[in-house]
Amino acid sequence: MTRFTKITASIGPSSEGNAMLRQMILGGVNVFRINFSHDTGDVQGKKIDSIRRLSRELGVPVGVMVDLQGPKHRIGNFAGEEKYPISPGQTFTFDSNPEPGNSARVNMPDADVIASLKVGERILLNDGKIEMQVTDVAPNEVKAKVVRGTEIWSRRGFNVPDTDIKTGALTKKDRADLEYALTKNPDWVAVSFVQRPEDIAEVRDFITARTSAPIKIMAKIERQNAVQRIAEIASAADGVMIARGDLAVELPYEQVPAISRKIIRECRRLNRPVVMATQMLGSMVESEFPTRAEISDVANAAYLRVDSTMTSEETTIGAHPLKVIETMDKILSYSDMDAIEHSNDWVRAENAPENDWSRSVSSMAHLNHAMAIIVFARDTDSVTSVSCRRPDVPIIAVCDNNLIANQLCILRGVIPIYTPDLFALRDFNTVAKIAEIKSGKIVVVDGDEVSLRDLD
Ligand code: PGA
Ligand code: MN
Repeated sequence: MTRFTKITASIGPSSEGNAMLRQMILGGVNVFRINFSHDTGDVQGKKIDSIRRLSRELGVPVGVMVDLQGPKHRIGNFAGEEKYPISPGQTFTFDSNPEPGNSARVNMPDADVIASLKVGERILLNDGKIEMQVTDVAPNEVKAKVVRGTEIWSRRGFNVPDTDIKTGALTKKDRADLEYALTKNPDWVAVSFVQRPEDIAEVRDFITARTSAPIKIMAKIERQNAVQRIAEIASAADGVMIARGDLAVELPYEQVPAISRKIIRECRRLNRPVVMATQMLGSMVESEFPTRAEISDVANAAYLRVDSTMTSEETTIGAHPLKVIETMDKILSYSDMDAIEHSNDWVRAENAPENDWSRSVSSMAHLNHAMAIIVFARDTDSVTSVSCRRPDVPIIAVCDNNLIANQLCILRGVIPIYTPDLFALRDFNTVAKIAEIKSGKIVVVDGDEVSLRDLD
């Protein structure tokens, strides 16, 4: 059974150490997400080193995605760990005073947010459990009326779904984290709380000023304003993550599935890989078994033909990280095969023009019952566009560049094969043998040349 949908696994305390990482790779992880919201610096750098070592040792390309925290806002501290009562109708103030908070006020350390808020806009705290509406704005403070919520305490998340925050995508912390991360040659950099295409350009400039390596940028879609400009943002970036965690706080949660479909459609059209993230197997943080609803959620991601699903807490702090990967692998593999067998949308390469070459590659493979598409890849572009047509056979991508092989790991249906010597592997018969394909037809893509070949 071949799995087409890739697995991106976030790593944390539950998934550290060489033995665990090795088992995760063997269990089917294609990309690891290193989240700089939690640890930074060498703690994270060592994990990247381990992944690189294991990937070499096991002879399988593995992607490394560094995830920057971005402008995720939190309120300041209250005295102690206590919860402070608040009630609907009362006024609550967020200010620049560092004193511990109480039932009437608390410090909001990010001056940019205070400065960006306007009267009438909403403030959501603690994953939306508290809702307030701004009633007064002054240079250093904002007053708001409590709409919903009964208690508030230290360091709760502070989401402002209606507000265009004036600052860019990189906070001071992000700059320091990215500066460090770039010394570790990541394959992808994920940017949190993207609001506009300029945010991606800012990160791209930061990267190109420091390295000539064509590191790819993943835009995390978690804000309303990003959803509205999805096509421009996806075009500016190299990939998109549907960050359902924050998305369901910033937008009415019932809209998240519809928005997800829209994002997937746009990404296919624009040749950008798309990752479905957050709580896919959420109950497995504790439980050994997924809920029926989670099984469906993972399967539906495969039927929607995303490039990759992602784990978060399930593998960072969860009790059964390997079981999570095994579960995800099993559901995705089965659903991918079923989708191919029972649906005929193989060529419905949405919005791809009739004469698009990648569309022809995909149809050629389908109509001739080919066993695979083999691409000799000099860059990621050709493989990405073929993958975005969602062909119903695996795409074997042979390349002599480690960065490219690792970057291709996230793409749907793509099996990257790294070779230091492309000439030695230039023959599609040899490549097919490595991929354990014994007979049948192969679509071969080499530069501009596309041909249908029979295996010897
Ligand atoms: P996070 O992003 O895990 O970094 O918050 C994903 C999400 O918001 O869903
Ligand atoms: Mn998020």
